[in-house]
Amino acid sequence: MNLLLMGLPGAGKGTQAEKISEKYNIPHISTGDMFRSAIKEGTELGVKAKSFMDQGALVPDEVTIGIVKERLSKDDCKNGFLLDGFPRTIAQAEALQALLSELDQQIDHVLHVNVPEEKLVERLSGRRICPTCGKAYHVMYNPPEKEGICDKDGSALIQRDDDKPETVKNRLNINIEQSKPLLDFYDNKGYLVSVNGDQDIDKVFNDIQSIIEK
Ligand SMILES: [Zn+2]
Repeated sequence: MNLLLMGLPGAGKGTQAEKISEKYNIPHISTGDMFRSAIKEGTELGVKAKSFMDQGALVPDEVTIGIVKERLSKDDCKNGFLLDGFPRTIAQAEALQALLSELDQQIDHVLHVNVPEEKLVERLSGRRICPTCGKAYHVMYNPPEKEGICDKDGSALIQRDDDKPETVKNRLNINIEQSKPLLDFYDNKGYLVSVNGDQDIDKVFNDIQSIIEK
């Protein structure tokens, strides 16, 4: 079972990825983890990737694809895999198609966890920080006992500029623009399935299970 997971920041992708990985016994492969372990193992491609990252440069596709190939060839992928955060561009998506056909495999589903933008803004702009002790709260998911006040030391909580709705919206819009061609690409191939991410975590997972087991 070869799955791709897509969704905007705040859509709850990470939580669903963990559940899918556990239930179906396939590894959750995120781009960040993949790079980190290639670098840690000191593979030739890992060393190359690191030299780009150290300069603050983007890792070229050929290196990234090579790392993906090494990762997908590992033993734990024999039941399949769940890719998260890759591909990011059409060029990478095409390279992945070529790589999978080389491995005599294909993608089964591209799961798109879909949450309306205004809900994402709500989720992502709810963080509050205590300027005194640094403790983080969330107005919906992890509120302090008294609104706007740190439980530990009574300081007034603040909202970081990064968490302000306008900033969050701008960041989301960039993500939406970037992911649109990719969603179209997989839609045209008939792989794309949209999952309503604006529900309880367990309901979202139920929907994902019915797609996978259909
Ligand atoms: Zn505090």
